[in-house]
Amino acid sequence: MSLQLFLPYAVGIALFLVWHILRRGKGEKAHKAEFKENLAAGLMEPPSLHPVVNPALCIGSGTCVKKCPEEALGMVGGKAVLINASACIGHGACHSACPFDAITLVFGTEKRGIDIPLLSHLFETNLHGIFIAGELGGMGLIRKAAEQGTQVVEAIIKRMVGEFPSPPDMVDLLIVGAGPAGMSASLSAKLHKLKFRIIEQEHSLGGAIFKYPRQKIAMTAPVKLAMVGLVKMHEISKEDLLEFWEGTRAKHDITIDYNHRMERIEPFDGGFFVHTNQGTPIKARAVLLAIGRQGTPRTLDVPGENTPKVAYRLIDPHQYEGQKVLVVGGGDSALEAAIALGSIKGITSVLSYRSAAFSRVKGKNRDTLAKMQAEGTVDVRLQTQVLQITEKTVVLKNEDGSTSEIDNDQVIVCAGGVLPTPLLKDVGIKFETKFGTV
Ligand SMILES: Cc1cc2nc3c(=O)[nH]c(=O)nc-3n(C[C@H](O)[C@H](O)[C@H](O)COP(=O)(O)OP(=O)(O)OC[C@H]3O[C@@H](n4cnc5c(N)ncnc54)[C@H](O)[C@@H]3O)c2cc1C
Ligand code: SF4
Repeated sequence: MSLQLFLPYAVGIALFLVWHILRRGKGEKAHKAEFKENLAAGLMEPPSLHPVVNPALCIGSGTCVKKCPEEALGMVGGKAVLINASACIGHGACHSACPFDAITLVFGTEKRGIDIPLLSHLFETNLHGIFIAGELGGMGLIRKAAEQGTQVVEAIIKRMVGEFPSPPDMVDLLIVGAGPAGMSASLSAKLHKLKFRIIEQEHSLGGAIFKYPRQKIAMTAPVKLAMVGLVKMHEISKEDLLEFWEGTRAKHDITIDYNHRMERIEPFDGGFFVHTNQGTPIKARAVLLAIGRQGTPRTLDVPGENTPKVAYRLIDPHQYEGQKVLVVGGGDSALEAAIALGSIKGITSVLSYRSAAFSRVKGKNRDTLAKMQAEGTVDVRLQTQVLQITEKTVVLKNEDGSTSEIDNDQVIVCAGGVLPTPLLKDVGIKFETKFGTV
């Protein structure tokens, strides 16, 4: 090729390279800023399984960054870095995407260990008759948790051979939790004609899915469920996914005991008494814990809290149009809820937090809140504590000991969750603490 003919191609390639480098540099700058901000706010502890990038193997292709649907990874210094650890939900999409095997998926970090129960190959804990499925056992993601729910019931039947059927006053199997693992386990229990019950602390099935933001697209893969067969799911909205589970539940006539929170397990010779917040304990030969890792929302323990006007997360801010809403808490979820509510015309958004300042939150949330407070779209009440919730008001205790009664229609408590591990350790279930290991 003569120089004259080659020149336009060379210029084109050079321009593309310059554009690519500039674009990448711009992306890197934003990732670096986000990383710095999350570091400063102390938000670097991933909730569960997460990637660790080996910088010696990472060539900075950025494939994992593009593949992460939660935007948890970014490019910093030419290498992939977990820049938004709290957004990582442990898909592992980044791990499969890396062409150089530079990513390992681990539990916990050097600073904060994560307790993973010790299970046999049949998913049984060290206590005969107590089994674990899904995210609690370290098997996160919708498809994997659902697959494991089915497998665990098959394993239980194998393990408990000769112990079923149980006497009339006892169920063969009590399934705790109606997320993907618990739901698929209940289908399997139905298929195998076990005498079973399924309890759920919430008023709805779906587990973590029920708590996804409105219209969130879940990334999943086809899964085989007992009684149903192969379900071909790929990208599906939260709403469609919940509709699928509810339709399946209804079609196969599975009754879930909602608002039943497991509070204690008491072993006896030949089974367990499972104590719930609903009084009479449930007597079960075997117990399957499919309770995930999200825990139970932390409550305020004040008069009036146990009423329908109190919720523990904001799912759809539009449902509160025209109402006066009090958000309680000082973390990112509380700030984001107050901001989302205050952004909708007609909603009165009040935020109550017991401390004098918001410390461990993203700078972006802190700044937006301060701006909205200045504009009067969110009423921020620092150093206040909820004393009482009534039908039309909330009583707040101020720092100087005085009280204020504010008009109120709804309360959203965002005070974090109580993890299930202490409860399970109390029964004697053994755990292993992982500090950034597989
Ligand atoms: C924001 C977010 C986005 C996600 N996006 C995706 C995605 O796109 N794709 C994907 O595959 N995965 C995704 N995941 C992960 C996925 O949702 C979970 O891994 C999966 O739901 C785990 O299923 P599980 O049944 O083990 O537990 P969970 O879904 O957590 O269900 C546990 C159930 O047990 C109940 N429970 C807990 N304690 C008790 C108790 N003491 N008594 C009675 N009931 C109790 C809970 O209320 C809950 O309903 C996401 C997670 C989050 C948080
Ligand atoms: S595990 Fe999933 S959410 Fe976490 S960084 Fe990788 S792709 Fe993103």
